[in-house]
Amino acid sequence: MIQTNILIIGAGPVGLFTVFEAGLLKLQCHIIDALPQPGGQCSEIYPKKPIYDIPAYPSILAGDLTAKLMEQIKPFSPGFTLGERAEVIEKDSEGQFIVTTNRGTKHRAPIIAIAAGLGCFEPRKPPVEGLANFEDKGVEYIIKDPEFYRDKKVVISGGGDSALDWTNFLADGVASEVTLVHRRPSFRGHPDSVQKVMDLAQSGKINLITNGEVVGVAGNGSLDSVEVKHKSDGMISLATDHWIPLFGLSPKLGPIGEWKLNIKKNAIEVDTFDYSTNVPGIYAIGDINTYPGKLKLILCGFHEATLMVQSAYKRIYPDRNLVLKYTTVSGAPSM
Ligand SMILES: Cc1cc2nc3c(=O)[nH]c(=O)nc-3n(C[C@H](O)[C@H](O)[C@H](O)COP(=O)(O)OP(=O)(O)OC[C@H]3O[C@@H](n4cnc5c(N)ncnc54)[C@H](O)[C@@H]3O)c2cc1C
Repeated sequence: MIQTNILIIGAGPVGLFTVFEAGLLKLQCHIIDALPQPGGQCSEIYPKKPIYDIPAYPSILAGDLTAKLMEQIKPFSPGFTLGERAEVIEKDSEGQFIVTTNRGTKHRAPIIAIAAGLGCFEPRKPPVEGLANFEDKGVEYIIKDPEFYRDKKVVISGGGDSALDWTNFLADGVASEVTLVHRRPSFRGHPDSVQKVMDLAQSGKINLITNGEVVGVAGNGSLDSVEVKHKSDGMISLATDHWIPLFGLSPKLGPIGEWKLNIKKNAIEVDTFDYSTNVPGIYAIGDINTYPGKLKLILCGFHEATLMVQSAYKRIYPDRNLVLKYTTVSGAPSM
């Protein structure tokens, strides 16, 4: 059981900044995110796109903003449960929340901050018969730890940056054999990554199949092979330990809809006094909340997080007097 003061659901920019504001009040945070890396939309959707409305940064790449936020919260040593979706929220006999993930990890906290953005990013799954039978038995939609594929035969499908980047990474001495399958003749990814893949294919370090798509999976209990339908060569059978279809992720509200919160148009209704929800002790900040005048901007989420932790502090320590201190005076002391 992971115990903390504030359990944050969502490691997007708003969830990350919450750790900083909570840390200033000496409140410990733990963050759960369904994705294997922090940054939310900034990392998952547009890491290389510049953002122009972060104060004091005339321009910053979304990926760099994530890195800066991680640096800013480091002194407060937040805990992370990454690659797991917060699934169930319950209350124990002492009034603390117990949050269990889809992998069974349990967390306990008096305060929950839902910073879940647009919801969980669900993988786009290809329409292959029997696919569900091989999920986590050779078929994975997200690469959490590349070491998992050490000395294994891997087939990757997709034509975007994820497919290209992971092909390049796993082919560099990690997997024993890498095949990239793409249904079109050209790729959508960064030209540099495309070039690397072409070079690897030319030097025989990867097997590149374009104009083909995986249409079948087979195995006895776990995946043994995939069937590729090729435009000119017909069916090709590939022996493999893993198939990783990387066709992107789309956000879904997911389990949040089951948490007895007031939901309006896929967002959680909050009181703008402190961004509390209808369930005492549960707050919602960032893109996931709604209120009159709401703007889905990072800047607004940062403001919401700042007010929210003040209210959380008063719930945790009702007898203590909270005095606002400027960081210019107090610094950002670690926990
Ligand atoms: C292309 C694009 C460009 C943008 N440009 C700008 C811009 O220039 N300026 C600006 O201010 N904003 C911009 N935005 C919007 C900005 O990205 C969002 O406002 C911001 O990401 C919201 O942050 P967040 O932390 O609330 O949520 P998110 O970034 O969406 O992060 C939420 C996290 O919660 C996780 N999650 C959800 N449900 C669960 C669950 N049940 N269990 C575990 N984890 C869960 C998700 O996996 C995700 O990582 C842009 C958005 C896009 C798509």
